[in-house]
Amino acid sequence: APVLSATDIEAGYEPGLPIVKGASITVGRGEIVVLLGPNGAGKSTLMKAMAGLVPVSRGAVRLSGSDITRSPAHRMVRLGLAFVPQTENIFTTMSIEENLVLAGHVVAPAERRARVEAMFALFPDLSARRRLAAGRLSGGQRQMLAVARALMISPTVLMLDEPSAGLSPKLTGEVFAKLAEIRRTGVTILLVEQNARAALAIADRAYILADGRNRHEGPAATLAADPEIAAHYLGLGGADDL
Ligand code: ADP
Ligand code: MG
Ligand code: MG
Repeated sequence: APVLSATDIEAGYEPGLPIVKGASITVGRGEIVVLLGPNGAGKSTLMKAMAGLVPVSRGAVRLSGSDITRSPAHRMVRLGLAFVPQTENIFTTMSIEENLVLAGHVVAPAERRARVEAMFALFPDLSARRRLAAGRLSGGQRQMLAVARALMISPTVLMLDEPSAGLSPKLTGEVFAKLAEIRRTGVTILLVEQNARAALAIADRAYILADGRNRHEGPAATLAADPEIAAHYLGLGGADDL
């Protein structure tokens, strides 16, 4: 069974005005799966609906066999679902280390210390641990810190909305290489990306959404090699967009 699934999801911001109109995805344990599609397709809305942040009017979300549709955030955390929204959720008036400690507040102190140290080992970019997470961190460092904060709950599944947004091609490559490394530690990853080519290079499978519905799906390499898909969907997020 998939570790995470969304089945026939209808979701939106206002009653009677669905943005996601019956989309379904599955994520297998240990996979990297990417959601692609044109701007406005409903990718972020679907991911936020799965994270319990947008009302779901139809369908079901399951995580590790539990129905988590409309679950409160603390239950999602307990079941191991971490979400990194597109807007960085880091506290700029705190240091890097304080950001990690706060993100691990649900964990007992000794384990929390161990996890903070594990994050400094996994993210050499964050080694200036006492530095405030404000202006002096680069975009890449801020994104790495947002990912490290999400990992503090030791999630089963890590969901990220456009982790490469606003990053140069070089930093995008570094963030994606880090995601591939995180997957090798056993974390399952679902991401939304505009930067389709770079995302397909690290993903196992991909879904292409359009107008709130599934349009295409398949192995990442198969979609990347399909000329029609490339022409219609993979032009986005290239160097021209940055
Ligand atoms: P994508 O991530 O694929 O670019 P989104 O899910 O962000 O698409 O947006 C899909 C549609 O939902 C857009 O038409 C957008 O205007 C609308 N939308 C997004 N966020 C909100 C919001 N907070 N309130 C109302 N409508 C929204
Ligand atoms: Mg968008
Ligand atoms: Mg989006």
